[in-house]
Amino acid sequence: MRIDVVTIFPEYLAPLELSLIGKARQDGLLSLAVHDLREFTTDRHRTVDDTPYGGGAGMVMKPEPWAQALESVAAQPVHGNSESVPTLIVPSPAGEVFNQELAYELATEDHLVFACGRYEGIDERVLQWSAERFRVRPVSLGDYVLNGGEVAVLAMVEAVGRLLPGVIGNPESLVEESHSDGLLEYPVYTKPSSWRDRNVPETLLSGNHAKIARFRRDEQLRRTTERRPDLIRGLNMASLNTADIALLNSLGIAPNQ
Ligand code: SAM
Repeated sequence: MRIDVVTIFPEYLAPLELSLIGKARQDGLLSLAVHDLREFTTDRHRTVDDTPYGGGAGMVMKPEPWAQALESVAAQPVHGNSESVPTLIVPSPAGEVFNQELAYELATEDHLVFACGRYEGIDERVLQWSAERFRVRPVSLGDYVLNGGEVAVLAMVEAVGRLLPGVIGNPESLVEESHSDGLLEYPVYTKPSSWRDRNVPETLLSGNHAKIARFRRDEQLRRTTERRPDLIRGLNMASLNTADIALLNSLGIAPNQ
């Protein structure tokens, strides 16, 4: 996969050189480049913003530097299917909310381009113009407002990057995570089995794999009911077995009702 990030703060993306994403880049599993939007300006002050038409507070990002930058990154060579249309992710509190399902979807793409907005955002015509060259997706990190798209890009690139083949040493660890099956992950424990008067649940020490699997599933259902009732309401009945339904009933939940 190739990822291009366009921003006025390239240094903000430095953490993408660290940890598993940094290693994936070194190992050639992910090719990632960060571009300074100001390099695509033509005036002496390298201006990227101007006042909003219609008045109001704040500044708006000018369209031409964005068009120059996006034309440049769209032309970058990409491994994989060179015919495929790159996806342009525009971080925005007014976008669809990012989640694990979208991370999985984006992880199948050959080329992702992220356009980090600042100020009051990017002139809307850039998104319209981009639709002729990219699959454009305004994406929100959540229902709150950040100062810029960079933090959202850090989160999205990490969530997508760790799903790429070879990035996580043991791919099994992706299978049982929170949100992989519509539920939150069960609680996890490590040694010592007794710590400051608190013991690891007996079942996890039993060596009985079936019992451990049931215990973990119950904990997933219990935790999700408590913390994310919206996820429980959205559960597909077909994914629940009799023991799941009994556990949910004991918590006062009648699935999908
Ligand atoms: N005026 C915009 C609005 O109300 O929708 C907010 C602009 S915000 C101050 C500046 C930039 O931060 C946005 O263009 C976007 O790139 C980024 N941003 C802010 N909140 C975000 C969120 N929840 N998810 C993703 N990006 C966000």
